[in-house]
This record gives sequence, C-alpha cells and structure tokens, in this order.
Amino acid sequence: MMAPQHFRTTYAAARQAFREMAAACGAKVVPHANPAKGAAGEDLSTDVVLFGPADAERLLICTSSTHGAEGFCGSGIQVSWLAAGGAKTLPPRTALLLVHAINPYGFSHVRRVNEDNVDLNRNFVDHAKPYPENKGYVELRDAICPAAWTPESVAQADRILRAYGAKHGDGALSDAIAAGQYFDPQGVFYGGTQPVWSNRTIRAILAPFNATVKLAAFVDLHTGLGPYGFGEIMSNHGAKEPGHFLMKDWWGKEATYFDDGTSSSYLVLGDINIGVCQALSNAKVAGITLEYGTIPKEDMIRAVRADNWLYVHGKVDSAQGRDIKAQIRAAFYQEHDDWKQMVAERGHYVLNRMLNCVAES
Ligand SMILES: [Zn+2]
Repeated sequence: MMAPQHFRTTYAAARQAFREMAAACGAKVVPHANPAKGAAGEDLSTDVVLFGPADAERLLICTSSTHGAEGFCGSGIQVSWLAAGGAKTLPPRTALLLVHAINPYGFSHVRRVNEDNVDLNRNFVDHAKPYPENKGYVELRDAICPAAWTPESVAQADRILRAYGAKHGDGALSDAIAAGQYFDPQGVFYGGTQPVWSNRTIRAILAPFNATVKLAAFVDLHTGLGPYGFGEIMSNHGAKEPGHFLMKDWWGKEATYFDDGTSSSYLVLGDINIGVCQALSNAKVAGITLEYGTIPKEDMIRAVRADNWLYVHGKVDSAQGRDIKAQIRAAFYQEHDDWKQMVAERGHYVLNRMLNCVAES
C-alpha cells in the first residue's frame, strides 16, 4: 500500500484530492459552501459523497476535520481508503457517506476551532439550557492564555498550571483546560452560544437519511492524543446509551470507553456524535472517535494554548506566528511517511470493520 501519497499539506490540496478520488470512484461530490474564507483567501466547503443507495437501511458515516487541523490526517485516511477500494463493494442495503472537512475553516487555517473560535466537539449541547460550569478554567484563564507569549511568561504560566494540578490532581487540570468552557468566547475549548455552521451542516447532510436508516455507524477522525501513529478506537457513548451496547458487541475491549476509565479522551460534553444521533433519531447509532497520537500531550496542549494566544494577542503573519503555526500543525499532523502509513492502515481496518458490523448486525 502506498498510503502516504494521498495525504496533502493544505486544505485546498486535500479538498482537490478528495474530489478527484471520489469522481474516479464514480461518486458525485455535493459541496456545502462555508461563508468564511480560507487562509489563502480560498473558498471553503464541506464536501460530501454517497456510495450506495440513498434509501439504505444501514449507513456508515465518516467525517474528517471536526477539529480543523486534524483534517490533514482525516482527509488522507478518507482518500487512501477510497484508493484502496473501500467503497468498491458495499454490502446489500448499506450505504457509505463520506463527509470531507466538516470544519473547513479550521482545516485551512490550521486551527482546531472553527470561524467562531468554537470547538465543534463542545458545541452540540442544548443551548437553551444553562451551560456546564468550568470553574477551573475561570480560575486559570490568564495562565492558559497569558498576555505575552515569551519563554519567561510561558514558564511562569506553566508554573501556575502545575501548581493547580498538584493541588487538585492532573485530571482536574486537564478538565480545566480542555473539558470545554462556555464563559470566554476568545478562549480555548470554547463551546459557543448557538449551533455553529458545521453543527447545522452535519444535521442538514444527515436529515434526508432519517426516513430510511435504521442502523448507523459513525467514525469521526481525530488526532492529538495517544502514542505516535496509534489509532485508539474511543466509544462516543455513555454506558447507558444504546450505542454503548452496539460498541461492546462490535468491538469489545478493542475499543475504549470513558465510563470504565479505559479511554484517553476528556469528558466531552457536546460532541458531534450527539448531532449524528439527533439527526438520525429513527436509527440506532454506534459512534467512535478514531484518535491518533502525534506528540506528547503536554506539548499538544501548549501548542493549542499558543495558537489561541496568537489569534487573541499576536500576529499570524510574523516570525513568531509562523513558528506557532508550525507547532500546531505538528501537534495534529506528523509529516512522516511511517506515521501516515500507520494511520492509514489502521483507518482502513476500522472503516472496513465498521462497514461489515453495520451491514451484518
Ligand atoms: Zn480532535
């Protein structure tokens, strides 16, 4: 397999590769135009292709770039899987829906967040209800994003964060930074005040399928947590949800679960899986986050904080800006052929198996 050739280094090139591969496989690409502009002024779009019957009972959905910068990996998996014949022979009454770059702004600008500084995986909460509190974030905000980003100011901020971790535990520190917050629109892991464009778009993409789909599998491609190149199959479901039992049945201990402590994930409230379940309300849904490791977690978090600082206080088009953009890219995408080959092989395995599970259950 020659998977690395299907990975691209810009959103625009990845979009073109996806469109060309889909067309070569005989599928029609349906674009959903995003109102923002890309880093090079280019148009932004979420591109969708359907293989198999539009009225299928069984559906496999695969999304990339929920966290924009993670799209380099997700796109490469989607394109290389098509190249390897992933959509060639679908089981009966089963369809495959590939959603390329659900957060095209973040992909193009190499940011986790979208055009509103919203973390899409914190945005699928009920915005009519009071938001979950994150007191740790409120307390640590000025250390998470200090006014200046110099070696001295970062070292000072890191001391404050470490002291918080020593007092309350590392899990509490992790949650304070990354569990999500609905308090600071300029801050990291912000969940927003309403359903953002990508949230509305995934619902619109899935709505037509709710008439016929009875069982769906969902694979959301992510990077940034775990060992280099390894893909952790994280169940998106709490232990009481129907999807949890499907996951246990399909994956057993090969998947990880938040409720039994095996998952490397944060406690995420408001992830895209909620939107998929709500859009396909007539179906049972089993959803996973396929999460690939890149660099150590503390370096990844520091890169996210630096990127946040850059857009609040810094200048993207500067030497420091380019340095921070290189850090955030490396935190979510490793420009090495061995890494690309590993993530692609694992991705193809997971997608093939999810396809068989959803078809045969
Ligand atoms: Zn992610």
